[in-house]
Amino acid sequence: MGRKSIEIIGINVDELIHQLNSALAEEWLAFYQYWIGARVMVGPMRGDIEKELLLHATQELNHAVLVVGRIIQLGGTPILTPADWFKYARCKYDAPTDPYIERVLQQNLEAERCAIQRYQEIAQLTNGKDFATYQIATTILNEEIEHEEDIESWLADIQRLKEEVKQLRM
Ligand code: FE
Ligand code: FE
Ligand code: MG
Repeated sequence: MGRKSIEIIGINVDELIHQLNSALAEEWLAFYQYWIGARVMVGPMRGDIEKELLLHATQELNHAVLVVGRIIQLGGTPILTPADWFKYARCKYDAPTDPYIERVLQQNLEAERCAIQRYQEIAQLTNGKDFATYQIATTILNEEIEHEEDIESWLADIQRLKEEVKQLRM
């Protein structure tokens, strides 16, 4: 915890730490959403998409590393128990009880859209006031935007594949 580095921040540090802890909880839930979804998933293009989902899972963990580092720099206590993930997270965890690939991707897509909202808000809160957190938020935001785009394009490809198969049958 650096006193000077906290002093220079022009915003309420407790509020910021709370936001960062919420982001931390959401990253862990997003990690597990991807990680377990990739394993139970069935349906077209599963082999290719599974690898991508596992890569996204590791990227979510890297986001957690960035966020937890900043919480500690700010003198905060990161969430210490998984039981608190659900108390802090605004983005919901959706168990992949239906393992069909489109359903699993849709769950991941919703988590990404929620993450985009979260980092947009942290960037807005810190813009021009806490450059260190701002830089972390925009770095992660850019990766969440890539994730959303990836999932949207896989869903579109699956849709196309299904339409082609339907045409062949007619
Ligand atoms: Fe993330
Ligand atoms: Fe993501
Ligand atoms: Mg990707």
